[in-house]
Amino acid sequence: MKQNTLSIHSENILPIIKKWLYSDKDIFIRELVSNACDALNKVKILRDQSQVSAQDSDFKVSIQIDKEKKTLVIADTGIGMTDAEVEKYIAQIAFSGAEEFVQKYKSQTDKDPIIGHFGLGFYSAYMVAKQVDIDTLSFTPGATPVFWSCDGTSTYSMDIGQRKERGTEITLHLDDESLEYLEEYKLLELLNRFCRFMPFPIEVNGKPLGNQSPLWLKSAADCTEREYLEFYRFLFPMDPDPIFWIHLNVDYPFHLQGILYFPKIHRRFDTNESTIKLFCNRVFVSDNCRDVLPDYLMVLRGAIDSPDIPLNVSRSYLQVDKNVRQLSAHISKKICDRLATLYKTDREKFLASWADVEMLIKLGTLQDEKFYDRVKDFLLWKNSEGNWTTAGEYLERNPGGKVLYAVEDRAGSIVQLYRDKKVEILFANAYIDTAILSFLEDKLSCKFQRVDGAIDETLLDSSREKTLLDSEGKTEASRIADFIRHSLNRPEIEVEAKSLASDQLPGLLVLKEEERRIRDYMAMTQGKPMPHLLSKKTFVVNTNSKLVQAISRLQHKQPDVASELARHLFDLSLLTQRELEPKEAEQVLARQTTVLEKLASLIA
Ligand code: ADP
Repeated sequence: MKQNTLSIHSENILPIIKKWLYSDKDIFIRELVSNACDALNKVKILRDQSQVSAQDSDFKVSIQIDKEKKTLVIADTGIGMTDAEVEKYIAQIAFSGAEEFVQKYKSQTDKDPIIGHFGLGFYSAYMVAKQVDIDTLSFTPGATPVFWSCDGTSTYSMDIGQRKERGTEITLHLDDESLEYLEEYKLLELLNRFCRFMPFPIEVNGKPLGNQSPLWLKSAADCTEREYLEFYRFLFPMDPDPIFWIHLNVDYPFHLQGILYFPKIHRRFDTNESTIKLFCNRVFVSDNCRDVLPDYLMVLRGAIDSPDIPLNVSRSYLQVDKNVRQLSAHISKKICDRLATLYKTDREKFLASWADVEMLIKLGTLQDEKFYDRVKDFLLWKNSEGNWTTAGEYLERNPGGKVLYAVEDRAGSIVQLYRDKKVEILFANAYIDTAILSFLEDKLSCKFQRVDGAIDETLLDSSREKTLLDSEGKTEASRIADFIRHSLNRPEIEVEAKSLASDQLPGLLVLKEEERRIRDYMAMTQGKPMPHLLSKKTFVVNTNSKLVQAISRLQHKQPDVASELARHLFDLSLLTQRELEPKEAEQVLARQTTVLEKLASLIA
């Protein structure tokens, strides 16, 4: 038996590997099964060249768990290795690779996720094993079997082995911290995660894993809708079916294959929750495509497979990597093309899917100038007539550079007022549109104004204005305003009384557009509303509303009830415009009860 020293300079490289990779030691199985598949693949190539004979049924990777011996054996019928190859590939090359790794990432913390991506190959076995044995027989005619063993120190032993069959058997003597891998369910879970699309059948204790060929390898022309849906269900069994998908297949200037689905999503989504699986030659690498694709594509689900994504580098490097940039540009363009085609050819489906694609379209617009150019014709809004339109089309119909909009769920009755006046309004979505509005204002040289950002002239009815002066030289309107201001007793609220064109709307809280945006922005970035910091709100009361008129009449006879009603009027507008802060809700309820009690006792 030969005793040799591993050709590395660092004596304690294995403890380093162990410690550094601890957080993701699961990947050892991916590395070893990948090696086994590579070895099988090489036999396939040799068979095609008639250099070896092999049956299709020979091609498989078998994993055996032995709980008693505390071993895990990964065996293949692949190409095998001669003793010279074991020395060269296992003893030297891998270690120099590992050493390079240590040199490169010395400064990283042991929690850094990129380390898990580093293809440490064979030596990742030492993350879970205290000793690793290799039994191998090369395909070369007359080859002698080789046995190699190393307990993770810098010496290894090599001997003539027992193996009779071509291929390699790797035996991991698991260390005490890694005995969990002796549990079949745990191993199956890992194999399902990492090896589901590997090209050769995998067995665990004689039972097939059922790994399959990934659909992305098939040409798009040969894939049926059913196959796409089944593949999606296979990847995301808990999800509702997707709405549509793109099949990616690029050979030049980089290699990329994959299928990305547009899922049915909610409007809010979490970019941390990435669901694009990243593969490298069918081997699962990561659930996290965040460093590779721009944020707005994170809404998509599916799988991309590309050997051209460098996996062992940091995020900042990835973002300047030419391949990665081209790759995300390509995907982005394909997405826009798909949406554009759908918009042109099946508008009904596009509109029905709007809630699902809206987020992607809007985020893409904000994050990528080119993206906006591609989607601007279908960056849509619903308008007050119930039609879908773009802001550009709105401005063509309504020249003047002002776009009136309302937020869908907090529109209130002022929208009806505009509808009555046949003024077109666009409906925005509260979560993301603030940023989109500013973006479009810049692009289209226009100004978006929320319906409660100012009282538009068209909403006033001058014929019914209360302009008559009383003995003190005040108009009735300003008296009402004074009384309500006094009743509210909130210095940050300005009160104005106006003659609105409808009697239905008693009051409205007006907050200037710019101030609202600053406030929304702060609420978004600080995570909490900043109520009265910058904004001076104006409470506009409608002198034509029956309620306001009643308050006006009551203010002399029953000033207390009138004040109560004035505050109630204010509460109502807070409620309709969703401006009520949670802590105010209780006071509002208490006030409502008082008002109702008083009214009830008046009637009873
Ligand atoms: P990589 O797979 O990235 O080349 P590894 O450290 O995993 O690095 O393996 C080093 C080399 O050892 C492989 O390139 C291959 O030549 C050889 N090898 C590893 N595992 C096997 C195996 N199961 N059968 C045949 N050769 C193997």
